Amino acid sequence: MARTLDEIILPDEFRDIYDEEDGLKKFRLFIGGKWVKPRNGRYFSVKSPSTRRVLAEAPLGSRDEALEAISEADSSRSRIRNLAAIDRIEILEAASRLIAKYEDYLVSILVSEAGKPLVYAKAEVNAAMERMRLTLEEARKIYGEYIPGDWVKDTKNKFAIVLREPVGIVAAITPFNYPLFSPIAKIAPALVSGNSVVHKPASDTPVTGLFLAKILQAAGLPDGVLNVVTGPGGEVGDVFVSDPRVKAVSFTGSTEIGSKIPAKAGLKKLHLELGGKAAAIVLKDADLDLAAEKITLGVVKNSGQRCDAISRALVVKEVADELVGKLEERFRNIRFGYPWEEGVQVGPLINEKALNHVASLVEDAVSKRALLLVGGKNHGLIYEPTLLDHVPLEARIAWEETFGPVLPVIRVRDEYEAVEVSNRSNLGLDSAVFTNSLYSMWRIAKTLQVGTVSVNDAPAHGVGNFPFGGVKDSGIGREGLGYSIDELTVIKTVSVNIAPSGLWKGR
Ligand code: NAP
Repeated sequence: MARTLDEIILPDEFRDIYDEEDGLKKFRLFIGGKWVKPRNGRYFSVKSPSTRRVLAEAPLGSRDEALEAISEADSSRSRIRNLAAIDRIEILEAASRLIAKYEDYLVSILVSEAGKPLVYAKAEVNAAMERMRLTLEEARKIYGEYIPGDWVKDTKNKFAIVLREPVGIVAAITPFNYPLFSPIAKIAPALVSGNSVVHKPASDTPVTGLFLAKILQAAGLPDGVLNVVTGPGGEVGDVFVSDPRVKAVSFTGSTEIGSKIPAKAGLKKLHLELGGKAAAIVLKDADLDLAAEKITLGVVKNSGQRCDAISRALVVKEVADELVGKLEERFRNIRFGYPWEEGVQVGPLINEKALNHVASLVEDAVSKRALLLVGGKNHGLIYEPTLLDHVPLEARIAWEETFGPVLPVIRVRDEYEAVEVSNRSNLGLDSAVFTNSLYSMWRIAKTLQVGTVSVNDAPAHGVGNFPFGGVKDSGIGREGLGYSIDELTVIKTVSVNIAPSGLWKGR
């Protein structure tokens, strides 16, 4: 059981995944079912976002190790593909039980290396277990289809069976903000449908990915079926994306990185979950207490480091003063601080670059005459929950993904201007609309260029019961229980000539 929450503590039985030097854990790579030291002997520091102390060292995987991981995944393809589906399911069920067993360790690692507030770290571990359980239920629906041929003249003497087959090797590349859930949302559907996997966790949060690999190994996954290489995205991730043996890339991360993947990937299946700039549109007839409550949570949850975070409010001017008053009261009462403290909702941002980005967006807005009502200060990497009013459309924060606990309020004339401003963004992941009019809701939902519209609620992807994903620069493909399985499988048609049966001869 973990003692503190700014320290990497592992169960005794995880001793083979790291070496220890001067009290510091130096993790190993997971390739071909073995825990190996990096060949070049190089490591990088995993730092606590809360205190910036070095928590551990992670292996600086190289191009060679990325290639080796792909070779192992390639040569072990038959090991997973030829396992009966029920055996694959049982391995993942065992992994799920191990996640439950090691829940406290996982929560502690999420708080330590990701700076995730305790309440959200616990929620992530629970969501990961739930995602695993529900993926396994969904896996039992990978049936394929029977299509009779005699409805069409040229296939009159045939029938077809349509099979769903694994693509082969899946590259799972994941971001820092959900270091456990995001890998599970890719690796579980990939494995259960018979793929082998190479995984690259984010460099800010590599330990969770390695911990998860150990769990899957302990659950009985055959050697080589899952390989985890930590190291620079531009090197390890780049090899995973461009190697022709990899048949699908499932990437979650920024639009900046993700938008360059199609050109490098060639003819692979691509599932890209990228950045967002969710607008909360608030109309005259909205329930303003509900809107204020949901918008506040939609901004600050997980310190605002979510692709589905509300990162601008487009408020019709007649209700703007009243709504801003309610938001201000709520923003002033949000507890920020160290992520292990009970009740903290806003903890540190992930690193200095993230802090500078958020601070520069707020400074830019204020320099363009936005009104700073709450926050605008930082304490180390903790950025205070921040509310800006009268934000002009020239401000960068009206358009750029914020990834921090900041809400810019933009006042608009009416519903039509709100939709026009929302749609002017190059991003199209999520949006929310607050109204009590069915007709306004429907008009807006049909007109917004986004993957998901949340009505009278903040966007929340949860465990993936509803499909989610983006349009425009927010990505390609859909994440979700069955949808993720679809992304990582291909259809094979088996067409059978049944003329010898003597049917359809008009007897
Ligand atoms: P990021 O910087 O784009 O990194 C994501 C992953 O890509 C990391 O593992 C990174 O490795 C790797 N990478 C970097 N360069 C690469 C390259 N050239 N080729 C292949 N992989 C490469 O994103 P992040 O800062 O970790 O995460 C935040 C972003 O993710 C936000 O934009 C957020 O909106 C998005 N996100 C989207 C969703 C969604 O469902 N749409 C969900 C969560 C997050 P390194 O860490 O080593 O650089």
